[in-house]
Amino acid sequence: MEEAFMQRTVTCGELRAKNEGKSVILNGWVARNRDHGALHFINLRDRYGVTQVVVDDDATDELEKMAGSLKMEYCIAVKGIVRKRPDEMINPDMETGEIEVKAEKIEILSECATLPFMIEEENNAREDLRLKYRFLDLRTGGMQKRIRLRHEVVKAIREFFYKTDFYEIETPTLVKSTPEGARDFLVPSRIYPGKFFALPQSPQLYKQILMVSGFDKYFQIARCYRDEDPRGDRQLEFTQLDVEMSFVKRDDVLLLMENLFNYVFKSVMNIDLPSHFRRITYQEAMEKYGSDKPDLRFGLEIGDASDFAAKSTFNAFTETLSEGGVVRYIVAPKTEGHDYTRKYLAELESAAKIYGAHGLAWMKVEGGKLSGGVSKFFAGMDEEVLSQTGAKDGDVILIVAHKDFKKCANSLGAVRNKLGAELGLIKPGYEFCWIIDFPLFEYNEDEGHWEAAHHMFSMPQAEYIDTMEEEPGKVKGDLYDLVLNGYELASGSIRIHDIELQKRVFRICNFPDDVAQERFGFLLDCFKYGPPPHGGIAPGIDRLCMILAGQSSIKEVIAFPKNTAALSPMDDCPSYVEQKQLDELHLAIADKKDE
Ligand code: ASP
Repeated sequence: MEEAFMQRTVTCGELRAKNEGKSVILNGWVARNRDHGALHFINLRDRYGVTQVVVDDDATDELEKMAGSLKMEYCIAVKGIVRKRPDEMINPDMETGEIEVKAEKIEILSECATLPFMIEEENNAREDLRLKYRFLDLRTGGMQKRIRLRHEVVKAIREFFYKTDFYEIETPTLVKSTPEGARDFLVPSRIYPGKFFALPQSPQLYKQILMVSGFDKYFQIARCYRDEDPRGDRQLEFTQLDVEMSFVKRDDVLLLMENLFNYVFKSVMNIDLPSHFRRITYQEAMEKYGSDKPDLRFGLEIGDASDFAAKSTFNAFTETLSEGGVVRYIVAPKTEGHDYTRKYLAELESAAKIYGAHGLAWMKVEGGKLSGGVSKFFAGMDEEVLSQTGAKDGDVILIVAHKDFKKCANSLGAVRNKLGAELGLIKPGYEFCWIIDFPLFEYNEDEGHWEAAHHMFSMPQAEYIDTMEEEPGKVKGDLYDLVLNGYELASGSIRIHDIELQKRVFRICNFPDDVAQERFGFLLDCFKYGPPPHGGIAPGIDRLCMILAGQSSIKEVIAFPKNTAALSPMDDCPSYVEQKQLDELHLAIADKKDE
C-alpha cells in the first residue's frame, strides 16, 4: 500500500476569519520561510492562493526543527488550527490575510533542489532559462494567472457554442499535404514507404467537408501546425477556434463572432463590449491607418499629400506623382516632454524603410510656418499645407512618396504605430473592428503568379465573378478579418461551393486542372454531392489570451511554447532519433547540422 500522507482538507486560498478555530490540513509549496528566533512564518502556496503558517514559540522541539529545515519550494503538508491574526498583523493584500494557521504537525512530502530562479510574481530570468525550467516558471504568480485566464477563455468559448447549438467535432491531425500557404510539417508513413502525412495548417478543408455532410454549425478548438522559420512572435504550433456554418452570408458570421466576443469578455473579464464592431474596408484601413490591422486605440490618421506635393519643387514628390505613384503624410503631434530631434526622425525613417519607403521626408511647424527638412521646396505654401494637413505649431509633417500605394501605406503605418506607442497616445481598452472587402488575389513577385490573399477556398464578390481572370488584382473577396488593438485576431470568408468556380480560382493561382485534381481532388469530388453555401472564420486563441493578459508575447499564455529559435529547451526537442527508427521509416539523413 502507498504510504499515507497528511492529505489536504482545505486549499491554501480559502481560509477566512469565519474559519477561526477550525482544524485543517494544508498541502502546498514553501513560498517563504521567515525565522524570528523560535517563531517561524511559512507562506504555503498552491494554485488557489497563499496561507501563512506559524510555528509558535510554544512548539515542540521536533516541530521547530522541522520548520527550520524547510527550504524554498519544498512540497509539504501542515496540520494546524486556524486563528485570527491580531489587527495590526492583518494583511489586506492577501486573500487569506485575516488568518494564519498555527502548525501542530508538518510533514515534508518532497524536497526541492537548488532553484535556478526565484518563484515570484513575475520571473525576470532570461527566456531560455524560464523555458528550460518551465515546470517552475509555471509556478510563478503571473504564469498561474495567465494559464487560468486561458482556461477561462476556452471554457467561455465552449459554453457559448454549446448554448448556440454548435457541434464540437474533431478533425484529424494526420492529413494530406495540401499547399495552403505555409510549409507543411511532414510525417513519414512507416507502412507506405516514401509516402507522407502532413500536420494540418488548419482544419480548413475538413470543416468545409463537414458542411457538405450536413453538420451546419461546427466548431473546434484546433491545433494548427506551420513549418515556418522562427520570426517575431510565432510558434510552430498554435491554437485556433475553428468555426464553419452552412446557409449563411457574411453578416451572419460577423454577428456570431460579435456575440461570441461579447460573451467571452463579459464572462472572463466582466467587460461590456459594443454589440457590433466597426467595419472598415481594406482600402480605407490602408489609406487611413497604413495597415489592414489598424490599432484604433489612437487617432493619427494618414492623409493624401498629392495635392500640395504636386505643387512643390521637390523632384522626388513631383516625379513619383507624374509616374502614377502616391505621396502621403502623417502629422506627428507636439507632445509634452518629447522632442523631434534629428536622431528621432532618423529612427522614424528606419521604421518606414523596413516596409519599402525610400525615405521619410519631414517639415516642422514653427510660428505658423513650415521649417527644416523639405520645407524649402514648399516656399509660399505654408498656409495651404497647414490647412490641408491640420498641422499646428510643434507638430512635424512626415511624408512618404512611392510608386506603390501599399508600400507607401505600410511604411507610414509603421511610423504611425511607433508614434502611437512612443508618444503615449494609446488609450487603454479594447478596440475591435472588422476589415472587409479584401482583395482576393495577391501577385507573388518571386514566383511570378497570382495567389490567394487568404486561401483559395474564399468566394469572390459577385460582381467580379464573370471577369475574374481579366484583372485578378481588382477582384474583391467575401473575406473578413477581425482586428483587436492592432492585432489580427481572426480571418475568415464565405467559401466557394461550386466546382467550376473553385477550378477557376485554382487556375488563377497557378494550379492547372490536373494539379488541382491531384492535390484537392477530394474536395472537388465532395462538391459534386450537393454542397451547401457556407462560410466560417478562425480566431487565434493564443493571441486573444495574450491581449487579455496584457502581454506582448504569445509564449506568456502557452504552457509549453518553443523558444525564439523554434526549440524546446525543457525536453530538448527536436532531437535526433535512433537509426532503427529511421530505418523503419525508410529515411536516411543526408547531413546532421550540429555534429
Ligand atoms: N482556415 C483559415 C485560417 O486558418 C481560417 C478560415 O478561413 O476559417 O486562417
